[in-house]
Amino acid sequence: MEENNVKQNNNSAQSQNKPVEKKSGDENKNQNRNRSGNYHKKRYYGNRNYHKSDKNKGEKKEDIRQPSRIKKFGFRKVSIVVPLLNEEESIKPLYSQIKTAVDSISSDYEIIFVDDGSSDDSLKKIKELASRDRKVRYISFRKNYGKSPALNAGFDKASGDAVITMDADLQDDPAEIPNLLTKLSEGYDLVSGWKRKRHDPFVKRFSSKFFNYMTRIMSGIKIHDFNCGLKAYRSAVVKTVDVHGELHRYIPVLAGWNGFKVAEVVVKHHPRRYGKTKFGISRFFKGFVDLLTVIFTTRYIKRPMHFFGFFGFLSFMLGFLVNGYLSYEKIFHGRAIGNRPLLFLGMLLIIVGAQFFSVGFLGEIIVHYTRDKKAYSIKEKNI
Ligand code: UDP
Ligand code: MG
Repeated sequence: MEENNVKQNNNSAQSQNKPVEKKSGDENKNQNRNRSGNYHKKRYYGNRNYHKSDKNKGEKKEDIRQPSRIKKFGFRKVSIVVPLLNEEESIKPLYSQIKTAVDSISSDYEIIFVDDGSSDDSLKKIKELASRDRKVRYISFRKNYGKSPALNAGFDKASGDAVITMDADLQDDPAEIPNLLTKLSEGYDLVSGWKRKRHDPFVKRFSSKFFNYMTRIMSGIKIHDFNCGLKAYRSAVVKTVDVHGELHRYIPVLAGWNGFKVAEVVVKHHPRRYGKTKFGISRFFKGFVDLLTVIFTTRYIKRPMHFFGFFGFLSFMLGFLVNGYLSYEKIFHGRAIGNRPLLFLGMLLIIVGAQFFSVGFLGEIIVHYTRDKKAYSIKEKNI
């Protein structure tokens, strides 16, 4: 079924190709004619020529190769989503590296920078790039919401049938993009990078190993590096998975539990060149709490009573047994039970059990009435 989906995606992607091109052709008729001079030509090739005319003539050979490359991956368009917070020095080098990596495999791609409320010149740098290159898109948040909402906003706008995410700090290597796409095209829905050789401080490497181990055990998703910024997705994944709070660490879990096929490939990792990490020591606590959240929200969000009801029932029954035993002592043996600690334990278990049930009922009510809400407000964008 999964494969069917994949095929459908590809087919629909190809069949969508024409109307999409047509629309942009109609809307930007003059623009296209000026830039490519090939508006009247067959649309698919028109697009490639448009690309070619922007560059020097030496690229002719590469253009001939492109269709087979795209076909090889089986994707129509690649969207590269880059969340960033105060990464002004890295943006331009990153942009060049992405161009080098992606230009050779596809002429149809977009780079979506999501500025997560930077207070430095990041947005200015992005705007400079966007004014020169129409493939550069951006969204800028009014304030810092976090990496997950930033990814979410980028996912929302990504129009490619393959989506790549990567950090903006030059730690992830854009040269790995073709490898990720190759793996993705083998029939996977999400391919996560695995920073086997990490260039991070010891504490981070160690704690990350522990978290990855815990997450692997608790989620049943067998990959080594859940929090790697460099990942490739089929668009269905990014349109389905809701990444909020700080759940970006667990996207493979959310995807895997939603029935998507997850794989990993080893990727190169570099030391941070500019600026500093945006996640302090609090990441360890948050990471653990988030794992519980992921487990709860993924498995029980639609059926909270199964979660709370289970513990409520357990607690209530234990309390019932304890107090039943005390009642037996009192009635049949005439023993005083008023000052026995067991009595308080039994009462506590019954009350807690009843409360769990109440919370479960409230949860069920909320599930019935809540609608999805966006957790961010966009300051400006060019999409
Ligand atoms: N980031 C973001 N919003 C935040 C924190 C981080 O968009 O609130 C971006 C950051 O700019 C970088 C990526 O998320 O592009 C990963 O952050 P960082 O490199 O600090 O994480 P680390 O590599 O230390 O895990
Ligand atoms: Mg980093």
